[in-house]
Amino acid sequence: MKVPLLDLKAQYAPIRAEIEAVMAEVMESQHFILGPQVQKCEEAIAGYSACAYGVGVSSGTDALLICLMTEGIGPGDEVITTPYTFFATAGSIARAGAKPVFVDIDPTSYNLNASEIESKITPRTRAIIPVHLYGQMADMDAVMEVAQRHRLLVIEDAAQAIGAEYKGRRAGSIGHYGCFSFFPSKNLGAAGDAGMVVTQDPTRAENLIRCRTHGSKPKYYHKVIGGNFRLDTLQAAVVAAKLRHLDNWTSARQRNAERYNLLFQESGLPIADSSRYESGGNQSACVFLPKVVTDRHIFNQYVIRTTRRDQLKAALQEKGVGTEIYYPVPMHLQECFSYLGHAVGAFPKSEGAASETLALPIYPELTDQQARYVVKCIAEFFSAGA
Ligand SMILES: *Cc1c(COP(=O)(O)O)cnc(C)c1O
Repeated sequence: MKVPLLDLKAQYAPIRAEIEAVMAEVMESQHFILGPQVQKCEEAIAGYSACAYGVGVSSGTDALLICLMTEGIGPGDEVITTPYTFFATAGSIARAGAKPVFVDIDPTSYNLNASEIESKITPRTRAIIPVHLYGQMADMDAVMEVAQRHRLLVIEDAAQAIGAEYKGRRAGSIGHYGCFSFFPSKNLGAAGDAGMVVTQDPTRAENLIRCRTHGSKPKYYHKVIGGNFRLDTLQAAVVAAKLRHLDNWTSARQRNAERYNLLFQESGLPIADSSRYESGGNQSACVFLPKVVTDRHIFNQYVIRTTRRDQLKAALQEKGVGTEIYYPVPMHLQECFSYLGHAVGAFPKSEGAASETLALPIYPELTDQQARYVVKCIAEFFSAGA
């Protein structure tokens, strides 16, 4: 049996007519830059995320960058974030000219450990970027508390977490900014690159709108330097159409996660959830399953943890099961960030997760049969190696 990590064709087949219709509408209008479809998409995403404003941009990466740019964060400034994330989080900070400052993760949620933020704050600190990794939100009460006390901005990297909730509040709605990615493999994927910034603040929204068109307002008059960060009209039409299905897809992902949990329980393997993980300790389990710690986990990824990760990945590949490592090298050990001067061991929990976590197929259309096959292959791997 073949179980791919993600099957976008399975998602597209039942919505093909809808998507083709909205794309045809844009093509007929020959209106490709901004316009009513972009505005409709912005309003829909802002509404979905309990935010007052949405500003469509070219990608999740540009969403992060444009927030930093409009706030004038640059050389001499520091921004605190997690080293266990997709490159764009730290990359955007560096591209803005600021210094990424890392805090280690909480190994239960894999999100930044908010209790370590305060010790990293200096007079140069301007902002915190918590990342809601795998579809589960960081401890936002703790992040906002320390940010407010030190007058810092909070930019939520919600690229993997659209629709996730923390104490009844949606991802992107708690910080000063929320950044979404519509990269095709995200829960709400465009037909190419696309992203959005959401905010509750009208002045911030206005500044973002100006910045995404070279900082010009009125046209050809530039008080500030921006860039071309616009959301394509075609992408906006696709994202708005797909948004109507997002809650169904999220429910299917959550059901798949529940199914995996059950199948692992029935497999007879020694399992535990990630809160039981003891670093370097005598592990009672061979597989650690994801632990849900916030109200609504949207399962962009279902990530397990095992000390035999690389062997397991290879064995699953041989059996036709696609998996992925998110992410194999934490940011502080990336070659391009060697100038920050971090050595191996600087953020041990991130390093441990980077060497032991593995994402299993969790996409909405995954069948019961496929999930059973995945867990069966994992159980066989561990019993053969016992
Ligand atoms: C995908 C992702 C991004 C970047 O989004 P793009 O649309 O690919 O530029 C940023 N941060 C995180 C955590 C992501 O997963």
